[in-house]
Amino acid sequence: MHLTRSRWMLGLLLALALVATACGGDNGGTDVGTDTTQGGDSEETIEHPAGSAMAEIQDRGIITVGTKFDQPLFGLKRATTGEVEGFDVEIAKLIAEAIDPDLEIEFVETPSAVREDVLVNGDVDMVVATYTINDTRKERVGFAGPYYVAGQDIMVPAGNPEDIQGVDDLNGKRVCSVQGSTSIENVREQAPEAEVTEFGTYSQCADAMSDGRVDAVSTDNVILVGLIDQSDGAFKLVDNPFTEEPYGIGVPKDDQAMRDFVNDVLEEIFESGEWAEAYESTVGTVAETTPEPPEIDRY
Ligand code: GLU
Repeated sequence: MHLTRSRWMLGLLLALALVATACGGDNGGTDVGTDTTQGGDSEETIEHPAGSAMAEIQDRGIITVGTKFDQPLFGLKRATTGEVEGFDVEIAKLIAEAIDPDLEIEFVETPSAVREDVLVNGDVDMVVATYTINDTRKERVGFAGPYYVAGQDIMVPAGNPEDIQGVDDLNGKRVCSVQGSTSIENVREQAPEAEVTEFGTYSQCADAMSDGRVDAVSTDNVILVGLIDQSDGAFKLVDNPFTEEPYGIGVPKDDQAMRDFVNDVLEEIFESGEWAEAYESTVGTVAETTPEPPEIDRY
């Protein structure tokens, strides 16, 4: 994945323009840990099957979405505006709009370790949070998607002082990753001699590497690219991915109707170009090429 500063600037301007258009300066919700945005007004009323989660959300007038607040490009809450932005946020907005164009969205900060819990407890309606689909998680939650496929990689200080070229080189090194993530499990499995430091969020790992408390941070390449972009040249990507991470939309476990609905929406936005637009205004501001959307897995 190659980064260019001019593209980043251009993308940033584009993203700001899009945010300005989408929001119209009419946003509430500045509570700590949540952010609320209002969808556009529309004449059209969408009918959902009686008793479905979609009908219930529509009646309520607000959808609650678990996302990350500290991951640039995917889910980042701006301290200045209180707005949450990123690819996950855009995907959540497109799903919300398909439920009802007038729906309000409440974004709730959802670190990796609590993603299943918030769905099981009914604290949120869905989770869009760089959330890898896997069988262990499917025991507690359902997934629509995937809507993106990342790969786990490694971030090191710019000069790569420990000469880390791939996952094997993490053995014997101080490596940071996050509780409840597939990333930390993969490091433990594939580099069993690594000295693993575990935090609740990836920004805490980035801080630990800035301070020299760890030699490397490992998680999905696109998360690392966002942190690198914010690091002012202090960090770099090893760029040797060693897993596949299909990102899904987490929904309550047995809600087949909601999974079908979200999968249909994803297929529609893949087709219409809205998915590519969402990608380009977020991840695409630092990553050069827009991938093809993945195949939906209707398991
Ligand atoms: N995609 C991986 C996961 O779902 C790592 C990223 C994250 O923790 O959000 O665990």
